[in-house]
Order: sequence, then structure tokens, then C-alpha cells
Amino acid sequence: MLQAAAVGRIWRFWVCISIARDVPSYVIDHVIHHEFHHRKLGVKVVNGRRIAHTPEFGVEERSFEHYHEAQAFLTKMSMEVQ
Ligand SMILES: [Zn+2]
Repeated sequence: MLQAAAVGRIWRFWVCISIARDVPSYVIDHVIHHEFHHRKLGVKVVNGRRIAHTPEFGVEERSFEHYHEAQAFLTKMSMEVQ
């Protein structure tokens, strides 16, 4: 979950990122990478349910060179917020 540390949303051709605390640049890059892959891959509809985080999306997302560091940072931050 991207709660509090960095939250990205894609709206048409814009990506808006809200940053609540100091966040390393690789985390911002990770959020942008994540959101642009939503734009690239779109949403699949399965049994009437919209699925954005497909296995294909996961492969693309993990191709970001600092994926694991960014995910670890976001996980740690989300645990501190709770
Ligand atoms: Zn997403």
C-alpha cells in the first residue's frame, strides 16, 4: 500500500503524486513507474470485475531497478502511520 509516504494517481495523461513526508527520489520514481504502467497496460475485466494489478503488471512493476528498496520503504512507512 502506498499510503502516506507517496501516493500516485493517474488521471487521463497526468500523474499526481502527494508526498506527506521526506521520501527518497527512488520511491517517487517507483510510484511514477507504477502509475505509468497502469496507463500502458490498462485494466482487464474478468467476470465483471476490473483488475489493474495483473500478473503482467507485476512483472512490469518489478522491472524497476529499485523496486525492492522502494517497496521496503513504503511498507515501513505505512506501518509507522498505522
Ligand atoms: Zn496500482
